[in-house]
Amino acid sequence: MSSSPVRCSYAIQLLVSNHDISNKYTTELDRVPKARLTKDQTCPICSIPFLDDPYPLVVRLPCHKNHLFDMDCIRPWLKLKTTCPLDRVDLKPKKKEIPKPAIADDEEEYDDMYA
Ligand SMILES: [Zn+2]
Ligand SMILES: [Zn+2]
Repeated sequence: MSSSPVRCSYAIQLLVSNHDISNKYTTELDRVPKARLTKDQTCPICSIPFLDDPYPLVVRLPCHKNHLFDMDCIRPWLKLKTTCPLDRVDLKPKKKEIPKPAIADDEEEYDDMYA
């Protein structure tokens, strides 16, 4: 009789699911208000018209003004890739530029000749 120890891999799975960097990005995407949606606009991923949902949560990718997706559809995609599923434009958020420390403006005072 040999008993094989069963190793628990839950810890690893937890680590993987915590790897959620893109989540912040998706929540920062441009939301499209329902009033701006038309009946013929569908989600390219599930192909369901946005307006089928009484409370559509639609986001626009920055690559194209007509690249609209259900938040629920694009979110899992963006966890795997950083490209638009339609045109494969890389959507990686640009690194925020750290504003340079303001250089003290020397207020040059001109000594007016015509004093
Ligand atoms: Zn969808
Ligand atoms: Zn696109």
